[in-house]
Amino acid sequence: MYIVLLGAPGSGKGTAGKVLAEDLKLAHISTGDIFRENLKNETELGKEAKVYMDKGELVPDEVTIKMIEKRLQEDDVKNGAILDGFPRTKAQAESLSNMIKVDMALNIDVDFDEIVSRIANRRSCRGCSEIYNVVFSPSKVEGVCDKCGGELYQREDQKPEVVENRLKVYSESAQELINYYEKEGILYNAKAGDKVGKTSYDVVKEVEEYLKNN
Ligand code: ADP
Ligand code: ZN
Repeated sequence: MYIVLLGAPGSGKGTAGKVLAEDLKLAHISTGDIFRENLKNETELGKEAKVYMDKGELVPDEVTIKMIEKRLQEDDVKNGAILDGFPRTKAQAESLSNMIKVDMALNIDVDFDEIVSRIANRRSCRGCSEIYNVVFSPSKVEGVCDKCGGELYQREDQKPEVVENRLKVYSESAQELINYYEKEGILYNAKAGDKVGKTSYDVVKEVEEYLKNN
């Protein structure tokens, strides 16, 4: 089963993706995480992507599509995957349809004002990419990851000015993706929760409902 998660940066999409993947025993494929991993390891791909990521802009389609195509051929993806952060453009959605059959496109609906404050409070682990929120879900020791002891930091793309640009970029392409999957007849909606964890809960519920009926 292949599920595409749609939702603005800060919608809780990443966390919901992890929970879903664990529940359904599917691979969790986050293009943002793959890019960051490449950045960290200073690969060619990482260097190419960095310019765009630092500005909150999309990495060009041909680069991103090639990367996903490779990832989808790996062993752990045989039973399906949760795609988190891909597709982001109609061209990406069309190529994806040529690679696999998407069962569900789950759109997480969220208020933009809410997002700006939420992202500003986010901290990520340099070690394992776990995400914390300094208000709602802080680490036990400030600045230190509960899971791996890694250093927590504010990603360049989580700074307010960049967040605003990311939201703008997101809005520009979101509607065409929603239209695309609506036309395919596989668009589902989940409202983002106002509490951490609520979004994941609603997303999982939506998928369970789907599985009962299909
Ligand atoms: P977000 O918090 O916006 O969901 P991600 O962690 O998914 O951020 O992605 C971080 C950055 O990686 C994006 O701002 C963009 O530069 C790049 N990126 C991730 N996925 C894609 C994609 N499908 N197409 C183009 N660029 C992408
Ligand atoms: Zn960690």
